[in-house]
Amino acid sequence: MTSLLKEEIIRLAYILGIFALPAWLLRAEVQGLFLGLLIYVILHLRNLHKLHHWLKNNHKDTPPELSGIWEDIAENIYRLQQNEQAAKHNLLAIIARARTSMSALEEAVVLTDGHGNLEWWNRSAEKLLGFKDGIDNGKPIINLIRDPAFIHYFDHGPYTEGIKLPSWTHPNRYVQYEVTRFGHNDRVLIAYDITRLHQLEQMRKDFVANVSHELRTPLTVLSGYIETFADSPDLPSRWQRAFQQMQQQSLRMNNLVNDLLLLSRLESDTVKQAPKAINMKHLLEQLRQEANAYSADKQQNIIIQVNSPYQLLGLEADIRSAFSNLITNAIKYTPAHGEVTIRWSNDEKYGYLSVQDTGMGIESQHISRLTERFYRVDAARSSATGGTGLGLAIVKHVLLQHKAILNINSKPNVGSTFTCVFPKEVLVE
Ligand code: ADP
Repeated sequence: MTSLLKEEIIRLAYILGIFALPAWLLRAEVQGLFLGLLIYVILHLRNLHKLHHWLKNNHKDTPPELSGIWEDIAENIYRLQQNEQAAKHNLLAIIARARTSMSALEEAVVLTDGHGNLEWWNRSAEKLLGFKDGIDNGKPIINLIRDPAFIHYFDHGPYTEGIKLPSWTHPNRYVQYEVTRFGHNDRVLIAYDITRLHQLEQMRKDFVANVSHELRTPLTVLSGYIETFADSPDLPSRWQRAFQQMQQQSLRMNNLVNDLLLLSRLESDTVKQAPKAINMKHLLEQLRQEANAYSADKQQNIIIQVNSPYQLLGLEADIRSAFSNLITNAIKYTPAHGEVTIRWSNDEKYGYLSVQDTGMGIESQHISRLTERFYRVDAARSSATGGTGLGLAIVKHVLLQHKAILNINSKPNVGSTFTCVFPKEVLVE
């Protein structure tokens, strides 16, 4: 039994004791007991009333004078309140500091509630996004940044990567938006001006595209002459090897220029063509014929498996060059008499085009970097096979345009599987 309860029982016994003797003398024990209990209850009610009054009116002051167990209850309530008050003060101080530092940030910071309505933003958000304090508070953010791409990103995510869009308020400027979710669907949006970065990126793209374009004509002329001379029966034998090499190298340069031009086109956002349904069986059959011709010297076994009834909604020329790059790689990096399996399949969520080979495979540390431009596992081997180092970069870009991704599985000396994973939305029956 707790000491408080003991005290309370003693208190009750004491009150009853006071009434016991007179009641016994007057032979009115029951009435005496009743009177004692009544006084005990009245005392409690009085304390309860005082406590209620204190809690209702000025519970931040020290508690009123109470007796017995009530004194202890009031003390405990008071202590809890004090602790809560201190915690609240601390929290408010932290929030105030966080807000001050967020206000000083150059990036626009915007907080939205569970419904995507504006709750708070810093000064940079006013400048960059044009939000107005006192006018826009509580408005849905998608009513203020009305770019459809932003609305889709904000409503559906995924937030693993941000998005880059032309500024909604400042023409000719570009903004990177990044959203993070916290609490119950509350979101914080960070936006910053990336115009300079965008311009540099654009300059790089234009430069590569222009140089590649300008190289095309001289290369065509050179290749033409080299071919004519190489085929000439009058060519002295000591020149034959030199011309053969010139022919090989000009072909390589041609491939490089073509790949660079294709990459530039894929990267530029301007050319938007309408996707069409691609008959996969038909396409894979054509690719097999090309692959057979390419692997003729190596006599590899090229197998096609079409396990899905779906067609692919996309740009056929780009899709063809992506698949062709994967198949050419499989042939290039697989020894003679090896096997290359090209498989089209699907499950409930995705369509899969996989190219599996029984070739030399790739060490795991290289896999994440394979789609970088000019990344080669083994430069000597790669140039010996005539690769440009751009094949997988092209595959990645084509897939990106079709909302697909490339998965790579490989084991050295066993083989590799490159799988293009297409979302259901680009599959049609
Ligand atoms: P390349 O023109 O050099 O083949 P890619 O971008 O197509 O350039 O490929 C990048 C590198 O990935 C290649 O240099 C090669 O080392 C490796 N690679 C690609 N496909 C395969 C494969 N099927 N088996 C083994 N290695 C491969």
